[in-house]
Amino acid sequence: MSIPLALFLTAAVAQANGQTTHVWITRAAVENLPSGDLRDLLADPAQEPMLVHGTMFPDGGYPIGHPYGESAHWEPLQTRYLDWIRSTFDLPYDRAAAPHIAFLMGLGSHGLADQTFDAFYLDRSQRYDADLGWAEGLSMDEATDFKWASLRGTQTVPERWIPDEVLTEIFAQEGIEVDGETMHQGQGLLELAIGLVTVTTSSDGDLSRYEEAFPWATENLENPDVPGIPDYETEVVASYWLSLWEQLHARDPSTLIDRTWPVDGGYGLATDATSPDARISIVFQQGLLSAELEPDFFSVEDSSGTDHPVDIWLYYGDHSHIIHLVPRADWPADDWMTVTLRAGLPTRTGATLATNHVFSVSTQPPPEDSGTLPESTPTTDAPTKRRCGCTLGAATGVPLQWFWLACSGPLICMRRRPHRGPS
Ligand SMILES: [Zn+2]
Repeated sequence: MSIPLALFLTAAVAQANGQTTHVWITRAAVENLPSGDLRDLLADPAQEPMLVHGTMFPDGGYPIGHPYGESAHWEPLQTRYLDWIRSTFDLPYDRAAAPHIAFLMGLGSHGLADQTFDAFYLDRSQRYDADLGWAEGLSMDEATDFKWASLRGTQTVPERWIPDEVLTEIFAQEGIEVDGETMHQGQGLLELAIGLVTVTTSSDGDLSRYEEAFPWATENLENPDVPGIPDYETEVVASYWLSLWEQLHARDPSTLIDRTWPVDGGYGLATDATSPDARISIVFQQGLLSAELEPDFFSVEDSSGTDHPVDIWLYYGDHSHIIHLVPRADWPADDWMTVTLRAGLPTRTGATLATNHVFSVSTQPPPEDSGTLPESTPTTDAPTKRRCGCTLGAATGVPLQWFWLACSGPLICMRRRPHRGPS
C-alpha cells in the first residue's frame, strides 16, 4: 500500500519506542545464555541479522495498520513457525535451520519482553505517572526507549532478513493475509525508527519532556528492586529461549515455571492489598488460558496456616505468561506467606505442573545486611538464603504535581504493545 512519507515518519518514530530497547534486550540475553549449542547459534555473527530482525518484526504491523504485527507477538503464531522448523529440518539442526531458529528466538524475545515489561513496569507507571504522561495520552514506551538509549547506548541494525515466504504461509494458517512487500514495509519503518533514536541520542537530545511526563518510568529503568526492568527482561528472555530450544528438540520442558516475584525467600511484600508491590507474580515458560486457571490451583497461607484469598490476574489474557496473585485483603505484617501452585495446573499446550510448586515470600522488610537472618523465619521449607525480591520504596518520592507537556513536535503518541492475547 502507499502511505505518505510524513505519516511514515511519524508512525515509525512512535513505533520506535521499545525498538531500541528490544534489540538491546536480545543482544544482552545472548550473553545471559549458558554455554552450549543455543548460545553458539545465537552468538554466531552470521545469525545476528535474523535474530535482530526477528526481535524487531512484531511491531512492524502497527505503523501500517496491519494485523500481522499483533499476531507475531504471540505464541500461537510463533509455535506454528517452531513447528514448521521442526518439520522442515532434521536434527541436529544445521546451518540451513539456524537462520530460522534465530528469527524465531527474536520473535520470542519480543513477545515475552513486552509481556514482562507491561505486566510489571508499565502497570506501575500507569499508577505512579497517572496524572502526568498517562493523563496526557503520551507514550511511556517512547519515553522509556529514548531514556534507555541514553542510559545503555543506541543500537545498530544489521542487514535485513525476513523469511517472508514462510511467514506468509504461516500467517495464512492464522487467517491473516500478508505478503512479503507489506512485511518489508513495516520492517523498514522499524529500521528507520531505531535510526532516529540513534540520531537523537547521539546528538544529546533533550529528554526532559519525557522525564517530566513519566518521572517514575524514566527514573526506575535501572532499579533492581523493580521487576520488569530491561535487565530483568534479559533474564526472562534467555530462560524462555532455553525452553523454546527444548521444544525445538521435542523434549519435555524441565519446568513450566520460570520465576516468581518476589523470589522464593524474598522480603518486602507490601501489606496494602491495593499496592502493586503486594502482588505475588509468577512468570510461566508457556502461555496460559484463563478459563483453565481454576482458583484451586493457587493458594496463599500465612505462617499460622490461615488461607488468604487471592484474585488470579493473567495479565494479558489467553496465551500470555504472567499471573499476578492479587490479595483480596491486606497481607499480615511481618509474616511469611507460603504460596502453592498445585500439580495439574495446565498451560496452553496441554502440559501440566507435575508436582506442587511451593515458595515463600515475606511481608517483613529486607533485613539489614548484617549476615544474620531475622528472628522470624517461616516454618516451611523456605530457603536459608534470603533475597530481597521487592521493596516498597520504589514508588515513593515521585513528584505528583501536574506538568503540562504538550505532545507537539514530530513525535506522535501511540501504543505499540499488544493489548491482549488472541482469544
Ligand atoms: Zn511489541
